[in-house]
Formats: sequence, C-alpha cells, structure tokens
Amino acid sequence: MALMSVLVTELVEGDSSRRIVEIICRASCNRPDNHSGGVERILKVHNMQKTLAQFEEYRELVKIKASKLPKKHPRCLADGNELLRFHGSTVECSLGMKGSSSLCTSDKCRVCRILRYGFSTKKELSDGVGVFTASTSGRAFDSIQVLDGNPSLRKALIVCRVIAGRVHRPVENIQDIVGQSGFDSLAGKVGVHSSIEELYLLSPRALLPCFVVIYKT
Ligand SMILES: [Zn+2]
Repeated sequence: MALMSVLVTELVEGDSSRRIVEIICRASCNRPDNHSGGVERILKVHNMQKTLAQFEEYRELVKIKASKLPKKHPRCLADGNELLRFHGSTVECSLGMKGSSSLCTSDKCRVCRILRYGFSTKKELSDGVGVFTASTSGRAFDSIQVLDGNPSLRKALIVCRVIAGRVHRPVENIQDIVGQSGFDSLAGKVGVHSSIEELYLLSPRALLPCFVVIYKT
C-alpha cells in the first residue's frame, strides 16, 4: 500500500483554530473533571486533495440515495446530513511531542494509521457495526479502550466531519440491521432533545478527520 503524504501541523496556544477546537471539546464535555490529564497537543489534519474528493463523492452518493426515497429527508438532500463528531483513539508514537508532526508507520498506532489510510470499519469497528463516533468529547473519551499496558500510549480524540446520511435509530439489535440497505449510519444512544449521542458510520468513507486532540497520560 502506498503511503499517503497526509500532513499534520500543531495548533499552538493562541492560534484561532486551536481556540475553536478547545471550545468544541469543552462545550461538549459533560463532566467537569473530564480528561483529567488535560490536553497535551492539538493537531490540524491537512487532508490530501484525493481524500477530500472521496469525502465529497460519498456525500453526493448519500444525497442521490436520499433523493430516490419516497420519504424526503431535507438534511440528507441538502448536505448528506453532515455532523461534527468525536472518535476516540490512541497514539503510540511521539506524534505531537516536542513539536513532532511526523506520522509513524506502526499498525498499532491507531491515530497515525487512521490519518495515513483512513478509517476502517474492520479495525475501528464497535460490535462489528461501523465506526463509532460520539457527539460529546466526554463520551468519545470514555469509549477509548486501552488493551495493552504500553505506558507511552496516549489517548486522543479525532474531531471529524461526518456524512451521517440517513440515520437508523434507536438501535436495539444492531446485528439484525447490518447489511440492510437504505441506511448510512446507526444511532446507538439518543440523548435529550433527540440528539444522537452515539453514532456508528456504516462506511469508513463517511468520516473526514479534521483535528487530533492528544491528551496527557
Ligand atoms: Zn504514530
């Protein structure tokens, strides 16, 4: 597989984009003591033209699909139902440390793998369904599973633009729905004001990483 030359740059203190990401994360944080270690680094992802094109192609696909349904979903028709979501992940390498913005090639370093090759429903699957995303940074942070005891492993949140498309909700028996046509994503948990707290994207192409927030260990 050819390596993609995706770039990341650090957003330093005082950068306006950094302030926005901090506000997004904090505003959606549902516990005051969340992420006790605190934010170590915030990186901006500079996606390749090809990746952006694929994301837009996927959006068009979802819109076309929505236009053929007898019941009209205005958001799907307008922009494929684009949402801002959080995906919990881990960093194994020195990405973000001492200003390092080079991605490693380890398959175990989830953030670098996602940034290089994109999301994979096989690797990022939750219950065999799709790529898990949360509407709050707190919920995404809680979803991070640390299996091995690697002390250098850091938790990270990937802030993503996602094309949610037609959302199936609420999920009771997820396994029964997988493979059924018509839906682009599945709601795991629906919160107050019927906001979708947990959303599984059935296609890895539905996610575009924008920022990576790396937390202190
Ligand atoms: Zn890495």
